[in-house]
Amino acid sequence: MCDDNAVPVRCPSCDGYGWISDLFDGEGDCDWCQGIGYICRDSKGVDHPIPIEHLSALAETLEALEAERLRELGYTGQAKKPWDQAIRQARGNLLDGKD
Ligand SMILES: [Zn+2]
Repeated sequence: MCDDNAVPVRCPSCDGYGWISDLFDGEGDCDWCQGIGYICRDSKGVDHPIPIEHLSALAETLEALEAERLRELGYTGQAKKPWDQAIRQARGNLLDGKD
């Protein structure tokens, strides 16, 4: 079980995705984190799935970890504005209202 000092960390098995693609079993929820993408590491350094009833208490922490993971993947959380898009710059059509 997770103790009170347990720290949520990215699941080492699925790397935060929550699912794994297995050559033999196909795709499915990650067994290690039970599909959450994160596990908790107790004070002895042992990893456990995060109990469902702890999820709401950890929501903010998990959200921050997820934001960090997406940033690592290059996702900024914002769409590029039309005038920032290379394709529109190349066409000279920036849609910025300054034609
Ligand atoms: Zn996992």
